[in-house]
Amino acid sequence: MRIDVLTLFPEMCEGVFGTSILGKARDKGIVSLNAVNFRDFSGNKHNSVDDTPYGGGGGMVLKPDPIFAAVEHVLAETSAEAGTAESAIDPPVKPRIILMCPQGQTYNQQIAEELAQEQHLIFICGHYEGYDERIREHLVTDELSIGDYVLTGGELPALTVIDSVVRLQPGALGNETSAVTDSFSTGLLEYPHYTRPAEFRGWKVPDMLLSGHHANIEVWRREQALQRTLERRPDLLETAELSAKDKLTLKRLQEQTSLNNK
Ligand code: SAM
Repeated sequence: MRIDVLTLFPEMCEGVFGTSILGKARDKGIVSLNAVNFRDFSGNKHNSVDDTPYGGGGGMVLKPDPIFAAVEHVLAETSAEAGTAESAIDPPVKPRIILMCPQGQTYNQQIAEELAQEQHLIFICGHYEGYDERIREHLVTDELSIGDYVLTGGELPALTVIDSVVRLQPGALGNETSAVTDSFSTGLLEYPHYTRPAEFRGWKVPDMLLSGHHANIEVWRREQALQRTLERRPDLLETAELSAKDKLTLKRLQEQTSLNNK
């Protein structure tokens, strides 16, 4: 997988790219992570990438030309790497070109899993008031928001998405199963974890986890995941894949909760 981040602050990305799971995934060759400064594509002697908005008003707007030029440069590079004679406009692998913006689709684990299947992702990070609308209309394939709040720039949102996508790549996590049981991957919140010591300041680890009976532990964990989701995110239960046994467990948990609330 190749990921390019178009940004005015490549140093914000480099630190994250070289650290922990992302750094290891890059070292192992699982993913190629590149920060591209689109100021290098300004095409003017002042290196300016923004301008005042037509129609007046506050704030500066990112111009279309540097961003189009930076994307075309990345596409030309990938075409050249693939060793094809095809033009940069029609590269062998069609990348997803993702605009980070608060007006985009709200990001979630389902989108992370979908993006993890792609071979090439290009992220565009905004700053200032916003982007020239032609970038949105004629360049990008996706618009993503990480939530209903506004940050100063798209770098932290893009890095959030990248981290969640890279950790899903085969071999990126030390333990292959750990991403499978994560919250949201199963449609539910994850069950609680405990480690040594078995008793800490009088608080004990649940007996079941010390029993060594793996089948029973799996049943316990599933019930804990259902209970936690019921308590904290009941909305997830509407779309989670639930077995007949899960539904019976949920009914029992709901009855217990309403009894406890009486
Ligand atoms: N004026 C814009 C609006 O009201 O929609 C907000 C611009 S914001 C100050 C600057 C940049 O930060 C955006 O272009 C985007 O790249 C990024 N950004 C801010 N909040 C974001 C969010 N919730 N999700 C994704 N990107 C965000």
